[in-house]
Amino acid sequence: MKFSEVVDAYEKIEATTKRLEMTELLVGLLRRTPREDLEKVVYLTQGRIHPDYEGIELGLAEKMVMRVLTHATGLDDARIGRLWKEKGDLGLVAQEAIAARRQRPLESTPLTTAKVYEHLDAIARESGEGSQERKIRLLSDLLGSATPREAKYVVRMVVGQMRLGVADMTIVDALAATFATKADRPRVERAYNVSSDLGEVARVLASKGVDGLKDIHLKLFRPIRAMLAERLETLEEIFERMGKAALEYKYDGLRVQAHVSPKRIELFSRHLENITGQFPEIVDGLRSAIKDRAAIVEGEAVPVDPNTGEFLPFQEVSRRRGRKTEVERMSKEFPVTLFAFDCLLRSEEDLTARPYTERRKALEGVVHASDEIRPSTVRVTDDVKQAEAFFDEALQAGCEGLMAKALDSTYDAGGRGYQWIKFKKEYSAALSDTIDLVVIGAFAGRGKRAGTYGALLMAAYDDVADVFRTTCKLGTGFDDETLYALPDRFKGERRDRRPARVDSKLEPDVWFEPKTVLEVRGAEITVSPIHTCAWGVLRPGAGLAIRFPRFTGRWRDDKGPEDATTAKELVEMYGRQLKQTKKEPASSR
Ligand code: ATP
Repeated sequence: MKFSEVVDAYEKIEATTKRLEMTELLVGLLRRTPREDLEKVVYLTQGRIHPDYEGIELGLAEKMVMRVLTHATGLDDARIGRLWKEKGDLGLVAQEAIAARRQRPLESTPLTTAKVYEHLDAIARESGEGSQERKIRLLSDLLGSATPREAKYVVRMVVGQMRLGVADMTIVDALAATFATKADRPRVERAYNVSSDLGEVARVLASKGVDGLKDIHLKLFRPIRAMLAERLETLEEIFERMGKAALEYKYDGLRVQAHVSPKRIELFSRHLENITGQFPEIVDGLRSAIKDRAAIVEGEAVPVDPNTGEFLPFQEVSRRRGRKTEVERMSKEFPVTLFAFDCLLRSEEDLTARPYTERRKALEGVVHASDEIRPSTVRVTDDVKQAEAFFDEALQAGCEGLMAKALDSTYDAGGRGYQWIKFKKEYSAALSDTIDLVVIGAFAGRGKRAGTYGALLMAAYDDVADVFRTTCKLGTGFDDETLYALPDRFKGERRDRRPARVDSKLEPDVWFEPKTVLEVRGAEITVSPIHTCAWGVLRPGAGLAIRFPRFTGRWRDDKGPEDATTAKELVEMYGRQLKQTKKEPASSR
C-alpha cells in the first residue's frame, strides 16, 4: 500500500478530537490495508514499530534529525533552525523544508508503507560503531523520496512523537469493528490485554477471524497488561463488598512483572517496558529463588536502606536509568526487595483464570524468600478490628496502606475493578517545609557504615510536657566525612540510659542527651504506632512520624533543643498539608 494513503487517513485522524470519528477513520484505513501491511499500519498508528515490551525504540535526537533535514533538502542550518523555533514540531519543519527543498530527486517512486516501516525498523535496530552515520543515511534515503506530507509523519515517527492522539483502546475498537462485530469487542480487548501486542491481534483477526483469538495465550517473556485496583475509603465498605478477603501490605515502589525460566529472566514495568537492566539484584535474587521452573510473578520493588532496614522513597529507584556501572552502584547503595504478590504462570500453566487463593499458594510454592524477593505480607480476615491493626502494622513497616483482594478473583489483565481494592493511609500529608529535630540516640551502622552510626533517632519537642518525643530515624543526607565523624561529634552527649526528658518506644544502641538540632527535610507526615510525638492526638494508639527524612546538611547550632520544631507545630503542619493534599490529589504514576 502506498504510504500516501496512510498519510491521508492520519491527517484526518489528527484533525478530529472525537473518539467515534477517529474510530471510523481508522476502520476505513484498516479496511483498505492489505493483509501483509496490516501489522505495520497498526504499529505505525501507535507511533511505534514493535510492541512496547520489545524495547525497540526510535527516538532519534532532534539535532540529528535537523542535520539530516539540511542534508536532504539543501537548505541551510539557519533556515532549518528558524523553522524549528517557529513551529516547535519537527514534523512540520520537515514538511515545510521538503516542500522548499533545493535538490529535487530525479525520479521518485512513491513511498510504500512497507518501505517506510522497514527503514524505520532498520534505523531503530542500528547500534554500535558507525551506527549514527548509518541511521542518518537511512533517514536521508526515506526523506529523499518523501512528499512533504509524508516527511511530516516520517520525522514525527523517528523523534517518537506521532501526535495522532489515538489511544490503544481506540485501535481495539477499530479492530473489532473491522474484523468482527461490536459484540466481539471484549474478546479483542482480552487478546490485547494478554498479549500487549496490537499488531499480533490484528494479524490473527485478519487471518483467522475472531475465533483465532482464543489461541493468543499468556506467554513467557511477553508481558501481560497489569490488573488494576479500585479504591474505597473505609475498611467496612471493603468487607461489605468482598466478605472475607485477603489483605496485603500495599508497598510503595515500582511494579515489576518478572518472567523467569531456568535460562533467562526478563523484568517489565507497569507500562510494559523492559527494565531488566535496571535491577541486577532482582535478577540475581530470582535466579536463586525460582530455580527449576518457568514462572511469571508480579510484585512491587521497594528500595530498602541497608542500615535502618526501612523502606526508602520510590524515587531512589526511579533514578536508575544511567549507565551500567551507575546502576550497579545504585543496586548496592539502595538495593531493592521485590515483594511478590501474584503468580500468573507456573511451569507451562497459565494461572490467570484461577482464583486468588490458588495463585497465592502457587506464589508461595514458587518463591523462596530471600533479601531480594519475598512474598507480600498477607492476612485473610473479615474482621474490621483485625484489619485496622494490620493496617497499622503496614504503615509501621513503611507501606502506603493495604490492598484487599477477593479470594475468588481471577487475574483480570488490563482491568480495573472491585476485585482488588486499595486502601491507602488517610493519615498522611505532604511536608513542604524543613523542620528542626533533636538528636536523642543512634543506631550502630552495618556494612559500609560499620564503625559509625547507621541512623540517628530524632525527636520533636513537646513544649507542654517539656519532653522530647521521637518522630523518625534519620539515615540519609550525610556525606561520608560527616558520617564518620558522628561518633566523635556526639561523644560528649552519650548517656548509658534513656535521658530523663526523652520519651521513646524505640531503644537505640546509644542514647544522647537532647542537645544537638539538625535541619531535616521529610516527604510527608504520617501516623505511626512506633513514634511517640503527638501520641494519641490524631489517632488513638499512634504518634506522628516523618516519612523519608533527609538531613539537609545544616547543623542548627544556633538553636537549643527547646527551639526545635514542636509536636504541636507538626500537628498543625499535618492539618494544613492534609487540606492541600485533598485539594490536589497526588497525581498517579
Ligand atoms: P493504579 O496502578 O491503580 O493505576 P497508581 O499507579 O496511582 O494507580 P496506586 O494507587 O498506588 O498506584 O495503587 C496501585 C499499585 O499499588 C499497583 O499498581 C502496584 O504497583 C502497587 N502495589 C503495592 N503493593 C501491592 C500489592 N500487595 N498488590 C497489588 N498491587 C500492589
